[in-house]
Amino acid sequence: MTQPAAATPTGTVTVRVPAKVNVQLSVGGLRPDGFHGLANVFLAVGLYDSVSATRAEEPRLTVSGPDAALVPQDRTNLAARAAELLAERHGLAPDVHLHIAKDIPVAGGMAGGSADAAGALLACDRLWGLNTPREELLALCAELGSDVPFSFAGGAALGEGRGEVLTPLEVGGAFHWVFAVADGGLSTPDVYRECDRLRADDDVPEPVASEALLAALRAGDAQALAGALRNDLQPAALSLRPSLAETLNTGLAAGALAALVSGSGPTCAFLAADADSAARTAHTLTASGTCRAARATTSPAPGATVV
Ligand code: ATP
Repeated sequence: MTQPAAATPTGTVTVRVPAKVNVQLSVGGLRPDGFHGLANVFLAVGLYDSVSATRAEEPRLTVSGPDAALVPQDRTNLAARAAELLAERHGLAPDVHLHIAKDIPVAGGMAGGSADAAGALLACDRLWGLNTPREELLALCAELGSDVPFSFAGGAALGEGRGEVLTPLEVGGAFHWVFAVADGGLSTPDVYRECDRLRADDDVPEPVASEALLAALRAGDAQALAGALRNDLQPAALSLRPSLAETLNTGLAAGALAALVSGSGPTCAFLAADADSAARTAHTLTASGTCRAARATTSPAPGATVV
C-alpha cells in the first residue's frame, strides 16, 4: 500500500540535465534478447532540459518549450515513469507535479527523454527528502532505460552491454560543437531496424571502444577526436532521412573539423576547432535552410544537477 511521503522539504526542486552526443557508437549484431551489443562513448553537451518537481494532490506532468506538443504528457513520459519507480521503491504515492522545460530536441538522437527521466528521479528524490545514495539512483536509472544512467552522470563515459554499464572517462579539455536540429524526429527502434536491414549479410564484428578516440578525449585534442568519430547508425539514419547528407556537407563546407549524425539522429553534430569556428558554422547552417536551427555549445557538460 502506498502512503503519503513523510515530512519532507516543501517547495519546488529543479534539476538541470544535459543532452548527449555519441562520439563513438559501434553497434554489434542483434542479440537473442533483441538488443544490440554496443561500444558507446557518450559525451554530455551543453544543451539542457530542466525538470521541476512540486508537491501535488495527484500525479501531474506539464511540458513547455517549442516542441512541447511532441512530448507525451501522460504516464508514458519517461519522467513520470521515473517518479513512479522511485515512489514505488519507497512505498510512497507518486503525487508530484513534474514540469519539463524542454530545450533538447525531441526524438533527435540526443537522449532527451532519458535526460528527463534522470532529472525527475533526482528532483523527486530531493523533494521527498529521500537522499538515496548515488549508486542506488544509478541502478534505478538503468531500470528506466539504457541511456538514463549516462544522462544522470554526465561528463564522458564508455557504455557497454546495452549501453547501461558505464565507465567514466577522463576528458582533457573543452570541445566545441554545433548541433543542427532537424524538423521532425526519427524513431530509435526504426533506425536500429534499418541498420540491421542494411547490414543483413555482413559479418558484424564485436564492438570495442577505439583507443585512438579515448586518447583524443584524454588529451582534449579536437583534431584527433575529429579523425576518430564513428557512428554505425549513421548509414541507417541517412537511409531513412537522405536530406541529412546535405546538412552534414553544409557544416563541413563551413569549416567544421568533422560531422556526424548524433546517435539515431536526425540531429547532426559538428566538431569545431574553437568557439569562433563553431559560431561561424552555426551561422552558416542556420542560413542554409538545411536544418531548423543550429546551436553552438561545448562539452563535457555536468550530469543531473539541482539548481
Ligand atoms: P535516444 O537518443 O535516447 O535514442 P532520442 O533523443 O532520439 O532518444 P527522445 O527525445 O528521448 O529521443 O524521445 C523519443 C520518444 O520518447 C519520443 O518520440 C516520445 O514519444 C517519447 N518520450 C517519452 N518521454 C519523453 C520525454 N520526457 N521527452 C521526450 N520524449 C519522450
